[in-house]
Amino acid sequence: MSELVETLKSAIRTIEDYPKPGILFRDITTLLGQPRAFRRAVDELVHPYAGDGIHKIAGMEARGFILGGAVAHQLSAGFVPIRKKGKLPHEVVSIAYSLEYGVDEMEMHKDAIQPGERVLLVDDLIATGGTAEGAVKLLKQMGAEVVAACFVIDLPDLGGRRKIEALDVPVRTLISYE
Ligand code: 5GP
Repeated sequence: MSELVETLKSAIRTIEDYPKPGILFRDITTLLGQPRAFRRAVDELVHPYAGDGIHKIAGMEARGFILGGAVAHQLSAGFVPIRKKGKLPHEVVSIAYSLEYGVDEMEMHKDAIQPGERVLLVDDLIATGGTAEGAVKLLKQMGAEVVAACFVIDLPDLGGRRKIEALDVPVRTLISYE
């Protein structure tokens, strides 16, 4: 195990049967609470894109706000929140996205992205990829150039990476749990 993987995995807590029986939930609040691990995760998310002219970081509610905000600060980029339906106060664009069971809607402010802006999508974890797929489609609809989608954790068995790569967006993840 590399030093990075060791640092991150030892800071992430796994909770059995949350939110439903049979699910192993990877809880990153413990990573966020450890200064060294939090900094390391953010530094690793940032470093391929330093000096790459990223205009905005888009983060998904709610853990994507925490990581994405830190990444935006490091890259001197703006931050664009992508939120669940009904949470944003100004005019929005929305998209339906698939959850494990059923669909939901996510929204972004209409004026949050200018056409041609280079945007990095950030979230804590990619599982089926339904959430990130919705976000990428929303960003592209607004004319963004989605440079990459970055996650601390990949659950490769659930196939999310392929779903995002099929949209011509490279995926970067730091650790995975089979
Ligand atoms: P997906 O849409 O790829 O199936 O699920 C990813 C979304 O659900 C992300 O926004 C992520 O925060 C959340 N999520 C799903 N499973 C977990 C988990 O085990 N741990 C954490 N921290 N988030 C999860």
